[in-house]
Amino acid sequence: MIPFNKPALIGTELELIADAVKRGKISGNGYYTGLCQRFFEERYDFGKCLLTTSCTDALEMAAILLDIGPGDEVILPAYTFVSSANAFVLRGAALKFADSCTDHPNVDVESIAQLISPRTKAIVVVHYAGMACDMDAVCALATSQGVAVVEDAAQAIDACYGDQPLGGIGDLGTFSFHETKNINCGEGGMLVVNNPDLRKRAEIIWEKGTNRAAFWRGEVDKYGWVDIGSSFLPSELNAAFLYAQLLHLNTVIDRRVQIWEYYSRTLSVLEQDELVTLPRVPEKSTNNGHIFYVLTRNENERDALLQHLNKAGVHAVFHYQVLHLSRYFRGNHDGRVLLNAERYEQTLVRLPLYYPLSDIEVETIVASVKSFYA
Ligand SMILES: *Cc1c(COP(=O)(O)O)cnc(C)c1O
Repeated sequence: MIPFNKPALIGTELELIADAVKRGKISGNGYYTGLCQRFFEERYDFGKCLLTTSCTDALEMAAILLDIGPGDEVILPAYTFVSSANAFVLRGAALKFADSCTDHPNVDVESIAQLISPRTKAIVVVHYAGMACDMDAVCALATSQGVAVVEDAAQAIDACYGDQPLGGIGDLGTFSFHETKNINCGEGGMLVVNNPDLRKRAEIIWEKGTNRAAFWRGEVDKYGWVDIGSSFLPSELNAAFLYAQLLHLNTVIDRRVQIWEYYSRTLSVLEQDELVTLPRVPEKSTNNGHIFYVLTRNENERDALLQHLNKAGVHAVFHYQVLHLSRYFRGNHDGRVLLNAERYEQTLVRLPLYYPLSDIEVETIVASVKSFYA
């Protein structure tokens, strides 16, 4: 069986973890945490970067930082992971779900615009498959309405919109280093604080509501409880593992993009015959090879394709269940049909795509997809 995912292993992870142990401080915000944060700050010119234990945590920090509370509305795509939504529900906000684009699972900015109200406090965008949302339109809308922008860039490491790195455009950006993502440390994440007004408080929330980080830098002579916060820092063991991977970021992404392009090239005959739709890279977006998918013509065909691939020893999977129709939320939804998001839920099939996937396995997967349509 070719599994759907295998986490990348560079080979130097254990070496750096051993070094972290030798350094004698394995709690958070130490040597390797600093190296990882500086890696992003320097390579992408990001504002302040704070490692977290997950992207979920980074999103929860974002919701606290933006002072989201009861009475506030947050607009976000229906076609996303639950964490993009939970973070804001936990603060008591009302969610307004926007539809996806016709030709891409990314959120349709026109759909966001229709949901803006005097109560709107933030817009959350998700760069699906590491491909950029229409950030010029998102930022223009947000600026004109005076609302904050959060980029859920969980899948978007090293990806760009024009020459702007994703995660560095909105007020806040969040990344994931979960084992299913391009670069991982098992469980991990990062908050990017682009808006300079939010930087100081971000560090306090990160350090359990204390000014300990400022204390370590010698800026204050004692530290204490100054705001709300929680334990969002990963240990140095996770950070050391992550740093080993970051040093090989280009190698991992190059291989993933190579596989993505092979899928795209070899399956294009099925698209020419109008049997499937292949992913398209949106205007101004780069491709970091995070997800390759095909869209089937309908839900039954999607189920049949998944079954066929499974029988052929290929573990392919669908993706998000739209959040506005979820068991938790559907009672609160305003009833709007979100046609595109619902179509992606019903017809999107993700193929295995990971660093250790071999050429022979990729060929087997393509042959299995083709044999379904033969
Ligand atoms: C993976 C993912 C998350 C959650 O990341 P964790 O690090 O597992 O918390 C959130 N949003 C999106 C879009 C994701 O793909």
